[in-house]
Amino acid sequence: KKYVYLFNEGKADMKDLLGGKGANLAEMTNIGLPVPPGLTITTEACNEYYVFGEKFPPGMEAELEQGLKILEGKIGKKFGDNENPLLVSVRSGAKFSMPGMMDTILNLGLTDTSVQGLIKSTNNERFALDCYRRFIHMFGDVAMGVPHHEYEEILAEEKEKEDVQFDNQLTVKALHTLLDRYKALYRKHTGEDFPQNPYQQLLLAIKAVFGSWNSDRAIVYRKHNRIPDDLGTAVNVQAMVFGNMGDDCGTGVAFTRNPATGERKLYGEYLINAQGEDVVAGIRTPLPISLLEQDMPDIFQQFESISQLLEKHYRDMQDIEFTVERGKLFMLQTRNGKRTAAAAMRVAVDMVHEGLITKEEAMLRVDPLQINQLLHPQIDVNAEFQVIATGLPASPGAAYGSVVFDANDAEAQGKAGKKVILVRTETTPDDIHGLVMAQGVLTSRGGMTSHAAVVARGMGKPAVCGCEAIKIDYTQKLFTVGDLTVKEGDFISIDGATGKVILGEVPTIAPELGGDFAEYLGWADEIRTLGVRANADNPKDAQKARDFGAAGIGLTRTEHMFMEQERLPFVQKMIMADTIEEREEALSHLLPFQQEDFYGILKAMEGYPVCIRLLDPPLHEFLPNREELLVEITKLKCTGGDSDLIKKKEKLMKKVDELHEFNPMLGHRGCRLGITYPEIYAMQARAIFQAVAQLTKEGIKAIPEVEIPLVIHVNELAFLRKQTVEIAEQVMEETGVKFEYTVGTMIEVPRAALTADEIATEADFFSFGTNDLTQTTFGFSRDDAEGKFLQHYLDYKILKENPFVTIDPKGVGQLMEIAVKGGRSSKPDLLIGICGEHGGDPESIQTCHQLGLNFVSCSPFRVPIARLAAAQAAV
Ligand code: ADP
Ligand code: MG
Ligand code: MG
Repeated sequence: KKYVYLFNEGKADMKDLLGGKGANLAEMTNIGLPVPPGLTITTEACNEYYVFGEKFPPGMEAELEQGLKILEGKIGKKFGDNENPLLVSVRSGAKFSMPGMMDTILNLGLTDTSVQGLIKSTNNERFALDCYRRFIHMFGDVAMGVPHHEYEEILAEEKEKEDVQFDNQLTVKALHTLLDRYKALYRKHTGEDFPQNPYQQLLLAIKAVFGSWNSDRAIVYRKHNRIPDDLGTAVNVQAMVFGNMGDDCGTGVAFTRNPATGERKLYGEYLINAQGEDVVAGIRTPLPISLLEQDMPDIFQQFESISQLLEKHYRDMQDIEFTVERGKLFMLQTRNGKRTAAAAMRVAVDMVHEGLITKEEAMLRVDPLQINQLLHPQIDVNAEFQVIATGLPASPGAAYGSVVFDANDAEAQGKAGKKVILVRTETTPDDIHGLVMAQGVLTSRGGMTSHAAVVARGMGKPAVCGCEAIKIDYTQKLFTVGDLTVKEGDFISIDGATGKVILGEVPTIAPELGGDFAEYLGWADEIRTLGVRANADNPKDAQKARDFGAAGIGLTRTEHMFMEQERLPFVQKMIMADTIEEREEALSHLLPFQQEDFYGILKAMEGYPVCIRLLDPPLHEFLPNREELLVEITKLKCTGGDSDLIKKKEKLMKKVDELHEFNPMLGHRGCRLGITYPEIYAMQARAIFQAVAQLTKEGIKAIPEVEIPLVIHVNELAFLRKQTVEIAEQVMEETGVKFEYTVGTMIEVPRAALTADEIATEADFFSFGTNDLTQTTFGFSRDDAEGKFLQHYLDYKILKENPFVTIDPKGVGQLMEIAVKGGRSSKPDLLIGICGEHGGDPESIQTCHQLGLNFVSCSPFRVPIARLAAAQAAV
């Protein structure tokens, strides 16, 4: 087994083994870009390190030594040398980039001896000492757990003593004092002197990077981004180049396009005379990359052409790190840049127009779930509001919440359901748990590529960064802007698209979905073969669904219609009825309501099919709660209430008791109701058909699909279909209008799936009710499962996914497959769809595509997601 690869031995597609950073450093090396030489220790070595109880796997160290020799040869410098020492960076790098989550150590190889060598070879003492103090700081913090803030405090004290603002202004003398104090701090915390053997430093640093794979923050990040825990990280050991040698040096980060909007323009930041982390850590607010054109015209040009080359090479927007050492440009990293949904879409659309990628490839460039971001409300610019400050527009979207100053508070309050905005001078990777739970983030320092900005964009959360007008006081938990004081708990809004910070809540408006959005999803529609419908119970939702591109309704539930205030008395009367006549009387009052409901929805969906499910829940859901009723009756009795009323209530109570079920989910519901009380379904069918007749008369094309729920046997469907057909014919005769309609069923219990070949003989269509199908296949009641034990199943990895979110492929998926095959064996062109919540889940949509379904149906807001997911399934 090979544990160590030189950069020139790797390739971009070796990310599993070399991690993203290592694979791309290799790729850049091989296409001839100026990359400082280095080597990569594989992710396998990391995984084996854990298998061996946190020890390096046998053979790895020997390979490392050998690799280092080659490196020394290439550069002509020696590790730990007292004349011209080789320094390296030790950089983490997993398969999927986890910005800032894991550790990196720079300037490794410095000791009291080699620092003299560095002074000699560069003739620059300030610089050499600056590197050494950075190294003692990073190494102590990352490898040995010396508290970061204690270093910071010492640094702040020395800067104050010298009366300078920035660390690159410290004198040689001050740096010497600083080094002594840093070493003392190191000794205090570790009980040892700072290690003076570079090779030992290197091994400790590698251990630290391996260890950072399992740091709390890395684990939180992986969980949030659904990255598996067993991938491990690679370690890159790379020769240092120096951006902190003087004013002809610098370091920066840039995107080939704007990661917030997608605009095709180099976008990033740099600092003169600075090293790596300085830009991201928000130590000084960096300069926009456009200014580099004046500062270092040649470098700028070279950088611009390299970034174009990289974009062409990777055929995607790149996020690039670079350093300039004494007027020479070096590339330190490239990766596909993280971006907001809006940027992802714009970049994909532009790249198709530029001829860089195909429409099919473009489909894979946007995460369907990310589309949600675009559908969320944005600040209404025409509204009145009080802007108190403006920062950088780091991640678009409007957010509103009460101010918190600490990630732990953000987490606690967010978990308790409160909306909070996290306000910090800058964020660090240790704040990730708070960012996850906050509505948005506001920082007073740092640029567009600062940690807060990058993470917020990745999460699709609004962020305003580098808002220097706000002065934060952590001890008093407040910030001030001019004379204004905003305390913890006060409400603010931020607009990540413009950088505005606003006092209180601002009015928002629905986003515009034209332009790129329409074009991109138009391509998705061309590519996909799966239809997309929506679930909607009223004309308003139906219209919304249509606006989002739904071609029909996959499920209209009728029970909500029964729950409405003015109707409930008739529904209860219908339930209380002792005779058919009484029941039909009550139903006759409901008929006009239902007809109006169906008229509205069918009209909103003109020209598209609307699948209407007849009454599904058990009847007791429409009656009062037993306990409440009992209290009411007892009260009436005690206070000598009206005896007629008491009798009425007691009768109601008797009915409630009669209808009581031990397990309502498996009880008297669905078509079982339709069979025992055929007049209920008869009324609903009549309401549908009368609405259709009315619309047809008005010249509006209505396409109703009558759906019978919870069928377990073909005979149930045959029984209810017959009645439905009779009513349709009656209505046609009564109204003199001819219309078309279909009758079908939901497949939502295993028996229905298994006998689908029989059921299909009576059905014009199937629709998978995967919520119930999952409940009945697992034998879980959803509410109990999600409330009580499902989380444990997921935590222990007994189940990989929540089966109520993503279709369980082995169980539920297999039943669906049997049903599709069975159904189409009897009726080859049987229409089949899905209307459970899974219809809006991208992974489940993939399953539906593979099973050959005709359509998925989901909530209106999920329709765009489903259109894209369906296109992705087809490419
Ligand atoms: P992260 O994954 O957190 O971005 P990196 O390993 O990319 O960490 O390192 C952070 C920064 O350190 C880089 O952006 C770069 O500026 C600097 N850096 C890393 N390696 C070197 C090197 N060999 N020479 C100079 N700077 C380096
Ligand atoms: Mg990096
Ligand atoms: Mg159901």
